[in-house]
Amino acid sequence: MRVFNFAAGPATLPLEVLEQVRDELTDWHGSGMSVMEVSHRGKPFVAVADQAEADLRELMAIPSGYRVLFLQGGASGQFSAIPQNLAHADSQVDYVNTGNWSKKAIEEARRYCKVNVVADEAASNYSTVPQASALRASAGATYFHYTPNETIGGVEFGYVPEVGQVPLVADMSSTILSRPVDISRFGLIYAGAQKNIGPSGLCLVIVREDLTGKARDGVPSIWDYAAMAKERSMLNTPPTFGIYVAGLFFQWLKRQGGLAGIGERTRRKAATLYRAIDESGFYRNPVAHDCRSWMNIPFTVPNPELEKPFVAEAAKAGLANLEGHRSVGGMRASIYNAMPQAGVDALVTFMQDFQRRHG
Ligand code: PMP
Repeated sequence: MRVFNFAAGPATLPLEVLEQVRDELTDWHGSGMSVMEVSHRGKPFVAVADQAEADLRELMAIPSGYRVLFLQGGASGQFSAIPQNLAHADSQVDYVNTGNWSKKAIEEARRYCKVNVVADEAASNYSTVPQASALRASAGATYFHYTPNETIGGVEFGYVPEVGQVPLVADMSSTILSRPVDISRFGLIYAGAQKNIGPSGLCLVIVREDLTGKARDGVPSIWDYAAMAKERSMLNTPPTFGIYVAGLFFQWLKRQGGLAGIGERTRRKAATLYRAIDESGFYRNPVAHDCRSWMNIPFTVPNPELEKPFVAEAAKAGLANLEGHRSVGGMRASIYNAMPQAGVDALVTFMQDFQRRHG
């Protein structure tokens, strides 16, 4: 039996996609083989990768001057690939610190260049993002990095920072494909696949062409955007199964009305859950209202001793993986694209019932 899976990543995938994978797993398109067993350089698989890229370009309206790369090493690999490709040892680069994932990106970038932390939300205990008007790129910054959605803190930017000519770099791991976005505002977008794209092992990079070809000496070829772009992400064997599932996921997103349709569903799911939390007088979400994530919603109960029973009883009711991140405790519901409204409604009903019994 399928449960509603609220995990932060690897996360739930659409049942339709999983059923298609199952149906063609052992005999893919009449080949007598699975897609995992065919050459990445053969025509049938190249067609899969090309279609996945074409569908992604259509979904996100990616302009022609941007390259789409299907890489490995996760978003964490990009924490170091980005400074190595875009900056030199004496370059100044800007980073915004809004929580755990931006901190990791900053720590890694410090190994490669000079990092200016242009805003740090420590004062609100990372329950806010900076005001749009307060955020500026430093003079001479080589790029400006931010994390549009903090997966652990549940804090999300409601705007795209205005940084003039400085290339804007965004870690969209936990928010990509959740609503329309104007790609032309960005120099580089990256995202680990395991939340809103497909299985882990694949990392998506969308990079403006003029930012490729600047990698510093000594960067391994598989981390060099220009080298990877030249070989259409097949400098070495790509994560073929991940690309195949991502392609099915993109087609599923198109059937949901594309990102405009998905964005409306996303907004409604998040609003349902926040309303239930705010009106309960029992559950609490610590994030400032205008910075609340549409994707990851942390919440607490008045007595921490109720956390374990909450998570265990929810699991029994078919609502899986609601424990908060180990670093913050409490609970967290991740409601990425593949989580239906019905899953959120079932969670709200459970929360109301739990409150009646324990409140
Ligand atoms: N950035 C964000 C915002 C994330 O949520 C995660 C993973 N949870 C990462 C980076 C790290 O991704 P990966 O595990 O693919 O390296």
